[in-house]
Amino acid sequence: MTSPTGISIPLPAWASALLLAELNTPFSSPEMRMQLAIRIARFNIEQGTGGPFGAAIFDLQTNKLVAIGMNLVVASHCSMAHAEMMAISMAQQQQQHFDLGKSAQQYELATSCEPCAMCFGAMPWSGIRHLSCAARDADARAIGFDEGPKFPDWQKKLTERNIRITTDLCRNDAVDVLQQYAINHGTIYNG
Ligand SMILES: [Zn+2]
Repeated sequence: MTSPTGISIPLPAWASALLLAELNTPFSSPEMRMQLAIRIARFNIEQGTGGPFGAAIFDLQTNKLVAIGMNLVVASHCSMAHAEMMAISMAQQQQQHFDLGKSAQQYELATSCEPCAMCFGAMPWSGIRHLSCAARDADARAIGFDEGPKFPDWQKKLTERNIRITTDLCRNDAVDVLQQYAINHGTIYNG
């Protein structure tokens, strides 16, 4: 086994195609933006490329898509490869800056499920200004996923860091993807 000298986590082919196809689509409502994140979660399980979680980042001035992410933990051999982390990382690469909040632009992260402890921790440093969540973390725990130790008032903690939060947006559609994954005996890849 060789020692890696860097890290690269490519998107699955279907996801690259989806990103390119949607780059010029105006996502003018919060629901439209969330439905894309949920569609990504659903494709990820239907295509067998990962877990039942999807995310997308939008520029709120143009309502255009900037980056997408999906859970790729198992395929990429990387516990960090959660949907939110993938989307944030790729938006930062696209912007060529580690802080999406550096400019006047406002970025929204739409995620099909509330962030786990790791992704919660990544939010303040990412520079996103709005977090939209569909399923609750209890919905992920209900099918066996470990969301990690989170503050009971995690939403308030993000608000205090100047990140607006919307929860339960299209929750039923995202829960449907989680339950489909459980019915199909998808891998529960907790550490
Ligand atoms: Zn996470």
